[in-house]
Amino acid sequence: MRPTVFLWDIDGTLLLTGGAGRRAMRGAFDDLLGPGGATALDFSFAGMTDRAIVRKGLREGGAVASDDAAVDHLLEIYLKRLHDEVPKAEAYRILPGVQGILSWLTNEVERIALGLGTGNVKRGAYAKLARGSLDTTFAFGGFGCDAEDRTELLRVGAERGAAALGLPLAECRVVVIGDTPKDVSAAQGIGAECVGVGTGGFEPRALLDLGAHHAFATLEHDGVREALLGR
Ligand SMILES: [Mg+2]
Repeated sequence: MRPTVFLWDIDGTLLLTGGAGRRAMRGAFDDLLGPGGATALDFSFAGMTDRAIVRKGLREGGAVASDDAAVDHLLEIYLKRLHDEVPKAEAYRILPGVQGILSWLTNEVERIALGLGTGNVKRGAYAKLARGSLDTTFAFGGFGCDAEDRTELLRVGAERGAAALGLPLAECRVVVIGDTPKDVSAAQGIGAECVGVGTGGFEPRALLDLGAHHAFATLEHDGVREALLGR
C-alpha cells in the first residue's frame, strides 16, 4: 500500500456527543445574544465547520458583528460550555466499530498517518475525543480553526499527515472518512478517496451517489478494512 494519510471526521463518524456540541453552541448564542438567541441556530450543523456555523448564526441572529473577531469571541464562550456539556451528556457514545478499526490501524498497518479532518476547532475536537479516550490516537489533523471551508481544512490536514510521514503530499494516498455530503465533496476537492459511514444520519447509498468510493452502514462492516487499504 502507498503511504497513506487518514483524515477522520468526528461527529457522526467516530462518536456522537449526545447533543453536547449543539447544546454548547446554543448556550453560547443565548449568552451572547440574550434569551432566545439560540434560535439563530435553527439549521442543520451536518458537515459544517464551527466557524461557518458561528458566522451563519451571528448573521441569522442579527448580531452587531459577524467578522472574525466576533466569531472568535463566540467560539471562546462555546468552548467553555463544551467542556461542561461533554462530560455530562448521557447519550455520548463512541460509534460501533471505531475502537477496533483505530487500534488495528495503529498497531497493524504500516506507513500511515492517523489524523483528523474535522470542522471542530482543535480544542473542541479534543474535548469531544477525550471522554472516549480517543484523544491520544490522533497526533494531527485539519481542524475548523485552520479554515472555515472544509476542503481547505482537509488540505491542511493532508499536508500535516504527509509531513508526519516525511514525504511530499504527492507521494501519499489520502483517505477521508466521514458521514455527510460535505465530507464527500471536501474529499473530492483535494483529490482524496472518501469512505462514507451511515452513522450520522445520511444513508450510505446517498454518500456513494455523491461520489464516496465506499460507504457502510457502520464501521463494524467487514468491508471497512479493505476499503481503508484501497483494495
Ligand atoms: Mg460528521
